Amino acid sequence: RAKRRGKSRYELFDADMHAEAVAQLTLESDLRRAIERGEFEVYYQPVIDLVSGQISGFEALLRWNHPTRGLVLPGEFIGCAEETGLIIPIGEWVLREACGQMQRWHLKYPHREALSISVNLSGKQFAQPALIAKALHESMLVPSSLKLEITESVIMEDPKTASELIEQLRMEQVHSYVDDFGTGYSSLSYLHRFPMSALKIDRSFISNIGPDGENAEIVRTIVTLAHNLGMSVIAEGVETRAQLDLLAEMGCEFGQGYFFSRPVTSAVAESMISRDCVA
Ligand code: C2E
Ligand code: MG
Ligand code: MG
Ligand code: MG
Repeated sequence: RAKRRGKSRYELFDADMHAEAVAQLTLESDLRRAIERGEFEVYYQPVIDLVSGQISGFEALLRWNHPTRGLVLPGEFIGCAEETGLIIPIGEWVLREACGQMQRWHLKYPHREALSISVNLSGKQFAQPALIAKALHESMLVPSSLKLEITESVIMEDPKTASELIEQLRMEQVHSYVDDFGTGYSSLSYLHRFPMSALKIDRSFISNIGPDGENAEIVRTIVTLAHNLGMSVIAEGVETRAQLDLLAEMGCEFGQGYFFSRPVTSAVAESMISRDCVA
């Protein structure tokens, strides 16, 4: 009897594995089709200068207009795109699209030519710096207007290669940011070894800095440390006025989050630029 139960459990497990494998294969072929049919779209979330209150730039965030599932967020497909290598063509498209869009905004709104565009890079793309040079060259965007967001885990996978690439990019005027700072394990100790220009403090810290939130002192320490290392700070996931006020008081330079704006289409982002405000 025990044996039979064991067997049926095994079969159940097997069926789950099978369903999972089918779902992965469906997603993979869906992604291939999405590239061919142009189902991807870049959304833009404003990054706010906490001193002036002005938009300092935008982060490019990938969206997928799926024919039956509707708007799909990156959390649902970036992992699969990375595993299958499809992140290379998808990421190349995002870079071209985002650089091209920012260049068109610079031409149309010359008084806002200081606006920058941040693009998230996966580890695989990071190993192909030529693609970044190509996107810049084709778009004719000023290199210093492009910021690259790289997570701690990507850096720590191969710290030596990472620091060489970050340095090489910086010599070409392309600056890099540490994304989701604080979620990795190595955080503070490695920072001074990488020529990063800014830290983006992860949303999980910011959500907890209210009046009696426990993370306020941690965030304050991160801001001070970043400044001591010559880096600026961007707070992710700012959702309330109280968080904004506290971050400004700590000397955090930039903020991004639903309090200002959710990620929006290029048309909505353009109307923000033309009116100089996020509302
Ligand atoms: P991320 O780079 O840390 O981007 C910030 C995420 O936080 C975005 O989620 C954004 O919509 C969300 N967010 C911004 N403000 C708030 C807020 O106030 N509250 C809350 N709850 N969320 C906020 P999204 O767009 O779903 O992207 C998730 C992740 O997917 C990104 O995290 C990034 O790691 C990755 N990703 C997005 N686009 C790309 C891309 O083009 N290439 C690569 N490789 N990864 C991308
Ligand atoms: Mg990011
Ligand atoms: Mg982030
Ligand atoms: Mg994050």
